[in-house]
Amino acid sequence: MILTITLNPSIDRRYNIDKIEKGKIFRTDNYQYTIGGKGLNVTKVIKTLDEPVIATGFLGGSSGDYIDKGLNNIDISHRFIKIGEETRSCLAVISSDGSQMEILERGPSISEDEISEFLKLYEELLEKVDIICASGSIPYGVPLEIYRDMINLAKKKDKKFILDASGETLRFGIDAGPYLVKPNKKELEDLTGIKIDSNEQLIRAVKDLSRKDIEIVVVSLGEEGAMAVHNDDVYKVIIPNIKALNPIGSGDSMIAGFAVAINRNYDLETMLKIGAACGTANAMESETGKVNKNNVDRIMENILIEKLT
Ligand code: ATP
Repeated sequence: MILTITLNPSIDRRYNIDKIEKGKIFRTDNYQYTIGGKGLNVTKVIKTLDEPVIATGFLGGSSGDYIDKGLNNIDISHRFIKIGEETRSCLAVISSDGSQMEILERGPSISEDEISEFLKLYEELLEKVDIICASGSIPYGVPLEIYRDMINLAKKKDKKFILDASGETLRFGIDAGPYLVKPNKKELEDLTGIKIDSNEQLIRAVKDLSRKDIEIVVVSLGEEGAMAVHNDDVYKVIIPNIKALNPIGSGDSMIAGFAVAINRNYDLETMLKIGAACGTANAMESETGKVNKNNVDRIMENILIEKLT
């Protein structure tokens, strides 16, 4: 069983319009609402791959109810802590020429009692799961060390923790030694302080990070695939060319693929292939955090893993 953590979920509201223009009013009947937040994107992709998953985090207000219902509709098990404030919405306005504008609400503040309640629930859920995936930003009130503390609790119970975060929460989390961490290039630069302009610098930065007690480090490189380090060996993940429609959420989909592969005890190369295939399959869809299973299988066959050392 895989547990996904979404501390700051959202309703993602996407509006498609002809052309974004300053100071104008736009009308559209081409809009979609989806349940989102990085952890919920991971959850949806794990579900598509038919692996058992349970989602947790914080939900509040009528937006929280909307997400709760949405998860029930797609048959995803979940146990969220109900909070006093309203769960956020994130808005994307996409014009037909492909340009995009996003408004991300700050989201609710979480009280100390709600955090304690969540940590109690987390410890209870830890007993039932093997892998934990924590993704994304944290809402106000939640301490920056939360992922670090959750990793430490998971490790005490011999559970594998996958971390996909950024900034200080990622830095703290890394100190606790998660099983797998997946920064993208920008996050890796921020973490290591190494400016990455060449392959050599990239390898140095990934290796630098993997020196800590982290089993697997993967740096995702968008359309350029990924690079991974395990046991001091460096692997390059070469992906096929595709026509990308919307690559947002590809990192989340990659995490889902990794979690599924680890849950099935697949070897490292297969894990890297499934993860990268999920990321690429997501980029082919217009909806964020969505993959077509047949595309994942097809893409996997066209991914090459090259051992560099
Ligand atoms: P996000 O934060 O939006 O989830 P990310 O920055 O964490 O994304 P990326 O590096 O963009 O993650 O993507 C993860 C993986 O998805 C890549 O390693 C690659 O396999 C696949 N991918 C992403 N973008 C593309 C693309 N344009 N074409 C093909 N594959 C892609």
